[in-house]
Amino acid sequence: MDCIWQRRNPSLMHALGIYGGTFNPVHFGHLALARSLRDTFALSEVRLIPTGVPPHRPAPQATPTQRLEWLNLALATEQNLISDDREVRGKGVSYTFDTLTEIQQEQPHSLLVWLIGGDSLAHLPSWYRWQELLEVGHLVVANRPMFSQFPELISSELAKRNVPASPESLARGKISVLPLPLLSVSSTQLREKLAHGEDVSELSPIAATLQQSGVYSRST
Ligand code: ATP
Repeated sequence: MDCIWQRRNPSLMHALGIYGGTFNPVHFGHLALARSLRDTFALSEVRLIPTGVPPHRPAPQATPTQRLEWLNLALATEQNLISDDREVRGKGVSYTFDTLTEIQQEQPHSLLVWLIGGDSLAHLPSWYRWQELLEVGHLVVANRPMFSQFPELISSELAKRNVPASPESLARGKISVLPLPLLSVSSTQLREKLAHGEDVSELSPIAATLQQSGVYSRST
């Protein structure tokens, strides 16, 4: 691919999609977002990175290994969406800044195109080294129901950095909004339905596996 961002950044040979999350457990929204990231920016690879110990929330009921295995099941038939187990293997809390910096060091010629949802963006100012994080790669935000209002700090970053969601606009320090209709599915909703023994086949590609595991059958 030879596009404008490569001509502007001749040392960057490749753009790599990064999508981190708890995936507790994986749902159709996660897949739709990852596919849209891949297709909108013509990425040859999107890595989905389940967190080991998440910094901003209580430990999930499912173990990191379970969440990773379920994610792999969900990705088995997907093109160019692959899991990355570095945070699951890592000990201690996983910070996005550290993960992105590590990947950037491994792939110095790649532009990292990393995705978060609107709820995560709203809380970004509480993240470790969040301002430096914005400079590491190109941030892509997925709109999420209930999260159209952002704190002033975030609104001003968006106003400064916003560029269209297209391969030609890719650049470090920029932010784009993913052109995808709102998806109301969440892992919380999935866990609640599983806890009530309800059918979740419309929410997750691995519904039967989740039901059989019993991991979420008692609590959310
Ligand atoms: P929970 O309900 O447990 O908070 P979740 O559904 O938000 O989980 P995560 O694995 O925590 O799932 O999400 C990973 C990333 O994907 C986060 O940045 C989150 O904002 C984003 N995301 C997840 N689901 C959606 C969705 N339906 N729309 C937009 N963004 C989403």
